[in-house]
Amino acid sequence: MDSSPNAGLGSVVRELRSSGPLTRQELMGATGLTRPQVDQRLGQLRELNLLEEAAVAASTGGRRPRAVGLRPRTGYVLAVAMGVTGVTVGAVDLSGSIIDERSAAIDVSAGPHDALGLCVRLCQELTADVGGEPWAAGIAVPGPVDIGHGIVVSPPILPGWDQFPIRDWLAEKLHMATWLDNDANAIALGEYRYGAGRGHRNMVYVKLGSGIGSGIIMGGVLQRGDGGCAGDVGHLPVPGASAPCPCGNIGCLEAVAGGLALGRVATALAEDGRSPLLRTLTEDGAEADASALARAAERGDPAALETLRLAGSQIGDVLASVVSLLNPSQLVLGGGLSYSGDVLVSSIRKSLYARALPLASRDLLVRRAALGEAGGVLGTAELIVERLFSPGVLDQWVDDGTPQGRPELTRGGTTA
Ligand SMILES: [Zn+2]
Repeated sequence: MDSSPNAGLGSVVRELRSSGPLTRQELMGATGLTRPQVDQRLGQLRELNLLEEAAVAASTGGRRPRAVGLRPRTGYVLAVAMGVTGVTVGAVDLSGSIIDERSAAIDVSAGPHDALGLCVRLCQELTADVGGEPWAAGIAVPGPVDIGHGIVVSPPILPGWDQFPIRDWLAEKLHMATWLDNDANAIALGEYRYGAGRGHRNMVYVKLGSGIGSGIIMGGVLQRGDGGCAGDVGHLPVPGASAPCPCGNIGCLEAVAGGLALGRVATALAEDGRSPLLRTLTEDGAEADASALARAAERGDPAALETLRLAGSQIGDVLASVVSLLNPSQLVLGGGLSYSGDVLVSSIRKSLYARALPLASRDLLVRRAALGEAGGVLGTAELIVERLFSPGVLDQWVDDGTPQGRPELTRGGTTA
């Protein structure tokens, strides 16, 4: 514990956010602070209008009369979850409740200015409707993120975005502290705090979407690695595969089993007649993409079923290595492809359990994500609030009473 006047304040906030209302005794136990220190931190929170006496439920009346909790609506953050084809912006309060949100179609191939300009407009509309001034903003994008510089680096599915200063550009346009992270990292944190991963301090979230990525939580903490790209499972090699990947390598998992790759297989199956059903679907106007492939598989099309089975076993093989390496208690599967019927997921399970070390897979739970579309917004909001209350950032705004209108906070703090 350092000697900063705000030492421990972030820990108190973290405990109250993750556990709900606590008594002073419980806060002492959870943070290691002394009684006078806890009282002082609570005094600071009261001055920030962030503290409230916890409501006492009728059935437990009187048991915890002195518990205190956070007042979640004192502030809100703007969380931008950007995909390859769509973006959702949520106004989220400090306890992770979505107050309101906006979604729009997006074309990331048009480059960062158009797409991020749209994000800014959505943020402004949302702010006008919600009222008040947001505390900070954040954006999660589908690409490898350099956390320290707030940029994406050689993003395979965001052509034209390489090195663009996403974080600082948004901070300037929105005039508030803004942070950038990878989408799978954000959703992993969302599922850990609010979804399928609750209670699993060692979990891996795998996003099976247009690309494939993952977010790793170990000991309750999101692991980004040294440069920010820990968990980029989409670019682990599939033995024997030779498909070229936009990252420059060949045989990457994403290049053979990601949504875009499966869409290319679907197109080929429709065009060369190996799947009469896919051909009919596309002749009826559907795009031959991964979801058409899933629909064909659901209707028993042999070529579509075989394609999803193969993709599932390739994904499962790579995840077996992940499980053997990290030994999580839970693997959470999300992203559009995870909803493409049971064939893919059961094939993933089959090869995963066959290949992972017995000790690593013995108690492993493989589940589908619970938050669906909301995972990106909730997880991004979580990342923002964690940053706001991390020591280096908190020190800069706590004496002013609010972090509003402080884009320079973006560059402060740790990558916690
Ligand atoms: Zn690759």
